[in-house]
Amino acid sequence: MELIDGKATSAKIKAEIAEQVARFTAEGKRAPHLVAILVGHDGGSETYVANKVKACEACGFKSTVIRREADVTEDELLRLIDELNRDKNVDGFIVQLPLPRHIDEQRVTEAILPSKDVDGFHPVNVGRQSIGLPCFHSATPAGIVELLKRYNVPTRGKNCVIIGRSNIVGKPLAALMMQKGIDATVTVCHSATDNLKEVCHNADILVAALGRPEFVTADMVKDGATVIDVGTTRVPDATRKSGFRLCGDVDFKNVSPKCSFITPVPGGVGPMTIVSLMQNTLQAYLSNNK
Ligand code: NAP
Repeated sequence: MELIDGKATSAKIKAEIAEQVARFTAEGKRAPHLVAILVGHDGGSETYVANKVKACEACGFKSTVIRREADVTEDELLRLIDELNRDKNVDGFIVQLPLPRHIDEQRVTEAILPSKDVDGFHPVNVGRQSIGLPCFHSATPAGIVELLKRYNVPTRGKNCVIIGRSNIVGKPLAALMMQKGIDATVTVCHSATDNLKEVCHNADILVAALGRPEFVTADMVKDGATVIDVGTTRVPDATRKSGFRLCGDVDFKNVSPKCSFITPVPGGVGPMTIVSLMQNTLQAYLSNNK
């Protein structure tokens, strides 16, 4: 069994990006600029945004966090998005999800200019990705594919089973895995899937993205499979200062001995999601500075 180290891989990619950025700034160009809009004070969102700011520092990017209280109106948020769409000094921006209930997330997502949508959530980017056109790829799927490539995990002709059909993980990952060059045979499972255990047992690459701690057990995994654990659920843990620990969707202790490759939680997919955001921001910067 080989552990797929997302933390080390992401550090390497950030260093590669920082090298490129240092060359641009040495030529007198401005650094790439990523903006994050953070609404309210959700603990998870605060952590994600703080990690994105740290990643920007590591890559040599400028980052700005714009905070709004949870009672911000949808119109105010849309006006802010419009300003950022028009700001030539902002290469890309994200609106950290989830948003308070009174705000329509889809409307907000669609208000972001596709050329600045570095999360890759806008329907234009999702559509372009699904037909293999240049676009901003959704961050988590792109990070997973990057890990598979860097660890030389064979994908051509392999059965890839994805548990979860969300718009940010399962669906866009399915589109990427079936693309020419990756060439996996993809099955997407969800809460209505019959015989889930048997379907999973057929997987050469099993991706768990359902948000249920330790859902994937050893009897669902074929010997020699590659297992990618996307799940990050906060589970109460009184021994931790934070009061919780992050738990993946895979029973790592019992599943890992059967695998060729497996990602841990934390330190697997999570850091790669952030690094994909950095790659998308660099791509946005490069197309703005052609
Ligand atoms: P989501 O929107 O809640 O979707 C969960 C999916 O899992 C749904 O399609 C659901 O099916 C399916 N599902 C739930 N229970 C199931 C069951 N018993 N059997 C089969 N399928 C089941 O979740 P998400 O946003 O994709 O996130 C999934 C997990 O990944 C969460 O823990 C999240 O925190 C984590 N995540 C991590 C990263 C990262 O960077 N590491 C990024 C994004 C998400 P239905 O569609 O039928 O309801």
